[in-house]
Amino acid sequence: MRLSVITAFLAGAVLPIAAIILMGAGGTVKSPTGTAPDRYAYYPGTEDLDKDEIRLIACGTGLPAARRDQAATCFLAELGNGDKFLFDVGTGSMANVAALMIPYDFLDKVFLTHLHTDHWGDLATLWAGGWTAGRTKPLRVWGPKGATPDMGTAYAIEKFLEAYNWDATTRNFVLSPEPGKISVTEFDYKAVNAVVYEENGVTIRSLPAVHAGDGPVSFILEYAGLKVVIGGDTFPNKWFIEHAANADLAIHETFLTPPDLVRLYGQSPGQAIAVGTQIHTSPQAFGKVMSTIKPRLAVGYHFFNEQATHDNILRGVLQTYAGPLSLAVDNMVWNITKEKITERMIVSPSQAWAVSGPNKPPKPPARGSVPDPISDFIKAGRWQPAEQAQAAMVEKFKKEYGLQ
Ligand SMILES: [Zn+2]
Ligand SMILES: [Zn+2]
Repeated sequence: MRLSVITAFLAGAVLPIAAIILMGAGGTVKSPTGTAPDRYAYYPGTEDLDKDEIRLIACGTGLPAARRDQAATCFLAELGNGDKFLFDVGTGSMANVAALMIPYDFLDKVFLTHLHTDHWGDLATLWAGGWTAGRTKPLRVWGPKGATPDMGTAYAIEKFLEAYNWDATTRNFVLSPEPGKISVTEFDYKAVNAVVYEENGVTIRSLPAVHAGDGPVSFILEYAGLKVVIGGDTFPNKWFIEHAANADLAIHETFLTPPDLVRLYGQSPGQAIAVGTQIHTSPQAFGKVMSTIKPRLAVGYHFFNEQATHDNILRGVLQTYAGPLSLAVDNMVWNITKEKITERMIVSPSQAWAVSGPNKPPKPPARGSVPDPISDFIKAGRWQPAEQAQAAMVEKFKKEYGLQ
């Protein structure tokens, strides 16, 4: 990475003395015609990663209800060895992922913490969008089994593909069906700190979570002697306390305060206290988790982050935790090495196109090998003046590209 300096300062007026905020480098502009030094932004695709470095990006930090400013849960881990892993693909998050302009072939590995829509609602976008925009191979999904087969990840993906049968069948006629496939690796949600992935110097482990039902997990990613914990939805649990200890960066949910759930989310007081303190993690409980496991940087997420909610959550967290803390918003990015953790915001285009990767897309199926999904009845409805109107343009294009 390009940053050479990290500024760690104490915002003593607002935060207690030990709360350190890590910021990107600034610096001096040396000449009126020269370039400015790195500020506080990461421009996707412009920085190499060091071999022993992790870049972690918050692509979704919000809630099940849609908000343009914040998608639902999604974290992308990019590793110095070239591996990339998506942890959850919550509703709306793929717009942020796409703005990173990473070829879709590099976004083929997805780890799901659980099957609430705010954690996998945008799988459809990754699946079909990536298929049409250059992915050349099947998606690979890892996720927990359920207490019964119909509550597990394999069931969900099987039914997902059945539900999108029309989508796949119509695409299969013009695109290779290969990138439209999804392979699933299920693992036991009760297994504690069990390895669910180990390849290429990367180990990913899972921990059970205490959430709305059996099945949810959290993940621990280990690479180059670094440990990043990606907490899914959970009430604070003993497995997280034991195995997330001493993480370099630990993500854990911290939910909206019960008064804000009533005031802003329209919940009854009964619902708010149950959701905010039993099914999810309150700010005070989040702080207790972090002051116990003592990560180099604690990251809280899973709330609509605006001034009032942020301040209310911060006040709660500070009652029980005084260490390094970030309350995440979408497009926050952390560069993690043994020496330092740098936090910046991503500056990316709203109108990003997909970027081609090194692999050529597989050929579409040979004509006649896949049933034509359009009947003669529908074909006969084609309005001929439209064909005539575009005929010259079509002819010119075909000539230019040597098409029949
Ligand atoms: Zn959930
Ligand atoms: Zn959630």
